[in-house]
Amino acid sequence: MKIKFLGTRGYIEPKSKKHTMYTSLMIYHNKNKIMIDCGENWLKKLKRLQPTSIFITHAHPDHAFGLKEGSFCPVYATKITFDLLKDFPIEKKYKKIVTIGKKTKIDGITFEPFEVMHSIKAPAVGYRITFNKKAFFYVPDVLWIENRKKAFKNILFYIGDGATIKRVMVRKDKKTNQLYGHANISSQLTWCQKENVKKMIITHCGSDIVKNEIKAKKEIIELAQKKGVEAILAYDGMTLEI
Ligand SMILES: [Zn+2]
Ligand SMILES: [Zn+2]
Repeated sequence: MKIKFLGTRGYIEPKSKKHTMYTSLMIYHNKNKIMIDCGENWLKKLKRLQPTSIFITHAHPDHAFGLKEGSFCPVYATKITFDLLKDFPIEKKYKKIVTIGKKTKIDGITFEPFEVMHSIKAPAVGYRITFNKKAFFYVPDVLWIENRKKAFKNILFYIGDGATIKRVMVRKDKKTNQLYGHANISSQLTWCQKENVKKMIITHCGSDIVKNEIKAKKEIIELAQKKGVEAILAYDGMTLEI
């Protein structure tokens, strides 16, 4: 199994050579090409990409609006995400609902969605992905992972949210007091430290990273070293063999 970071940019204006396309991951295995997230700027590239399945984490434009014109392969998402995308012409036969706590298996690869805090309007999930007893966790947008212990159990690495390094991007809904936004990289490294995860790969890069990658990299590596975690900054096109 091979994974490729198709895109690593967050929902921000600035972009760079390394972070142009909205955050998306492709898993290659046998004849399968399983895409996780399909943001707005993937719309015109989907045909050439030819994924065989698409998983969606949540209904924000940078994760799901590449499906505006529908899909030619199965799309896996939670019921609430499909409800939010109801105006997109995705054929009924291609709508596959995923449920928290239930696993979906495609050609020996298991996908298990976990509930995460991130958005009130567009509830999000992260996926624990397992193949040949090797697992990793993927969540591009996250403020908090429910059931993190289970999500991170024995994973090789955690692929997380690079929206900010130390800045706090948390807001509170005035009506419900619910929190939403993004956890910074510093907090996510602490999650890795607590759950004994040795490596974090950073995607969904925010302006801290995209505007000055060299400075950001130095800062992130220092933070990671303090917590005993290895940090890797992903870039568009980066591949890993698993
Ligand atoms: Zn996003
Ligand atoms: Zn989002």
